[in-house]
Amino acid sequence: MAIIIDGKALAKKIRENLKIECDELKEKGINPKLAVIMVGDNQASKVYVKNKSKACNEVGIEYEEYLLKEDTKQEELLDLIEKLNKDKSVNGILLQSPIPKHLNINEAFKTITYLKDVDGFTPSSVGKLCIGEDTFVSCTPLGVIKMFEEYDIDLNGKDVVILGRSNIVGKPLIQCCLQKNATVTTCHSKTNNLKEHTKRADVIISAIGRPKFVTEDMVKDGVVIIDVGINRDENGKLVGDVDFENVEKKASYITPVPGGVGPMTIAMLMNNVIKATKEQYKEKTF
Ligand code: NAP
Repeated sequence: MAIIIDGKALAKKIRENLKIECDELKEKGINPKLAVIMVGDNQASKVYVKNKSKACNEVGIEYEEYLLKEDTKQEELLDLIEKLNKDKSVNGILLQSPIPKHLNINEAFKTITYLKDVDGFTPSSVGKLCIGEDTFVSCTPLGVIKMFEEYDIDLNGKDVVILGRSNIVGKPLIQCCLQKNATVTTCHSKTNNLKEHTKRADVIISAIGRPKFVTEDMVKDGVVIIDVGINRDENGKLVGDVDFENVEKKASYITPVPGGVGPMTIAMLMNNVIKATKEQYKEKTF
């Protein structure tokens, strides 16, 4: 039986510690604030944004929401980002994805000023991560790394197989795991013989968005499983990418869905807002 990595409890502990840091900043007259931009009417985004607002409230971070209409022009979006870049009371800017298809999200991310890049999506943050400098790391990969640290799971020399190569999860995870001295393999929809890779993995991190894709026969005994996926199964139940019930029997550690990576992602956003606030004052940009 595997040890279940309790992301919910760990995230709570992290939020409690961040609240202390946030209170200390407030005592100095500094009030951390996150600005969230949402474009259009995406139901899933609304739920994510609500959870982020709740977490801000818990930690004591001020939260501001900008809801733009579905037919917003790229220029209008960039104007808002520029306004928030200049606004000294705003410490973190988050552009909630997805945004409507007529808009270019990568161009929008590029315009967020580095010191307010709490999602770690700007080219500066991504570049710094690649060359091993301290930076804002994308929240989900950072949450996964915190889980390894908290549970004393040492990646040194381990075969880590990452399923998925998205800009927000898979790619930054490659760098994060390399920094922990893992030997990293990334699989995606064009990978041949994916099972051959997963079968020899010491650690599998799945972020592909396919319900119960990773099955018992794809993993070796003692594997560590991190399930980033958030999916609905045929009955509408929230499930990950991993067939938890059966894979758990072979794993040494496993994250559940829900209650695994999800809460950690939000806790890391809070972490990044506090980090951004501190760095902005240290660099006296205001
Ligand atoms: P994404 O942008 O859609 O990327 C999915 C990746 O999976 C792509 O690289 C794709 O390959 C690969 N893939 C898809 N089907 C595959 C298959 N059958 N075999 C192998 N690889 C396959 O997704 P994402 O934004 O990274 O999110 C992935 C999942 O994580 C989703 O379920 C999402 O909801 C969840 N998520 C959770 C959190 C959290 O906090 N827990 C945060 C972010 C995302 P190609 O590149 O070849 O297309």
